[in-house]
Amino acid sequence: MTIRERLKDIRQTTSPANVTLIAVSKTQPLAAIREAYAAGQRAFGESRPQALREKAAQLPADIEWHFIGHLQSNKVKLVCGLAHTIHSGDSPALLRTLNDEAQRRQCVQRCLLQVRIAQEPTKFGFMPDHLRQLSAEGFFTTLPHLQIAGLMGMATLTDNTAQIRAEFRTLRQLFAEMKQTAFLDNPAFCERSMGMSGDYTIAIEEGSTMIRIGTLLFTH
Ligand SMILES: *Cc1c(COP(=O)(O)O)cnc(C)c1O
Repeated sequence: MTIRERLKDIRQTTSPANVTLIAVSKTQPLAAIREAYAAGQRAFGESRPQALREKAAQLPADIEWHFIGHLQSNKVKLVCGLAHTIHSGDSPALLRTLNDEAQRRQCVQRCLLQVRIAQEPTKFGFMPDHLRQLSAEGFFTTLPHLQIAGLMGMATLTDNTAQIRAEFRTLRQLFAEMKQTAFLDNPAFCERSMGMSGDYTIAIEEGSTMIRIGTLLFTH
């Protein structure tokens, strides 16, 4: 199947559910991105700051770039202002650095809070209780140059679909809770970025608003 055909297939699931499809192009050459672009795809996901900059410089300006990898504070300057949304806000220090960089650039950077929902110990992200504590302390009101637009999470890489579903449900419930507290009546706080090639249908059933698909779309 061509990239165009794969896109059409995936959109049959995402379009009725009103879910944004992010084409994860992090390991892909420009030609593959151009092929998806020609088929109408505009949202692409990259996980390394330098690669994001190089690709963005050579590709059409109306591409919406999503930064999905772990972001080190010393790389914030490369991503801030270029990424439409940074999915990987995973520590108070990083959020503070991002806010300060956005202030310097006189812009507002859209970003998500990455939550650790998987059992695997290696994944980045906030523990749910840490987010609750930061909310209660009013931390998120101290970042005027960030538009915090929701939560992102990655489920455990496993065949156990009940476990995957439970992990996505954790993210969904935490989102609902934060929407009722720290982000009460904040229409900008609206995204649940969850679901990858192996688990996106479960994620959509559990209320995902953005899926991040690499392998399924690009690997022939
Ligand atoms: C690589 C990556 C994806 C895409 O994973 P696939 O299994 O190839 O669809 C999604 N999200 C993040 C954060 C990634 O790093």
